[in-house]
Amino acid sequence: MNNETRKEHRLGVMGGTFDPIHYGHLVAAEGARHSLSLERVIFIPAGSPPHKPGYFISEPRDRYTMTCLAVASNSFFEASTLEVDRPGPSYTIDTIHALKQLYPEHQIYFITGADALLEILTWKAFEELLTICRFVAATRPGYRLSELQSKLNQLPGNLKQNILCMEVPALAISSTDIRQRVREGRPIKYLLPESVEEYVLKKHLYRT
Ligand code: ATP
Repeated sequence: MNNETRKEHRLGVMGGTFDPIHYGHLVAAEGARHSLSLERVIFIPAGSPPHKPGYFISEPRDRYTMTCLAVASNSFFEASTLEVDRPGPSYTIDTIHALKQLYPEHQIYFITGADALLEILTWKAFEELLTICRFVAATRPGYRLSELQSKLNQLPGNLKQNILCMEVPALAISSTDIRQRVREGRPIKYLLPESVEEYVLKKHLYRT
């Protein structure tokens, strides 16, 4: 097979705190999988998210287990312990390097919400990141793509071309809101998979 006919192998990566994982994450990942023909999407819960310093988060094992439960019904999805097993802050650049070793033949598409991508200029080694993988920014209620676009215009052309914007059904769901609802005894049903809801209740997460 020559270079013209060889099909690009595409791997999706969805990073996040996932405290807890919810339908906003799953819809963004599924939208990217379908529109970019990704072979699979790996969900990687952060061990220690550098952009949420001092932020109270659940144990990495609980967040990883909830991620496994959430992806179980989609054969294209899987969960990874890459970041929860790595000591120190979970920098995306280190994760992408590790994935490149594991999947040398694949083009990596890192899926984020528009809010997370707006922060990209503050990420460790963002220039290298934008060179070695592509980013897919999913629309998220409250974050306008036009704002993202003007931020991206500050980037040099070769970096900009590796960022794609993607419209997904707007779900005004956040982990922060889910945690607050649990604390206040309000329902979280239909905001996240039932198996994850059961885990949150069984483990008494977010009560305090
Ligand atoms: P928190 O409220 O605790 O900050 P979160 O709901 O934003 O959490 P994260 O785990 O921080 O969830 O997000 C992981 C990734 O998923 C980020 O790139 C974020 O932008 C994206 N994301 C989260 N919620 C949505 C949503 N409702 N729609 C689209 N993307 C989302």
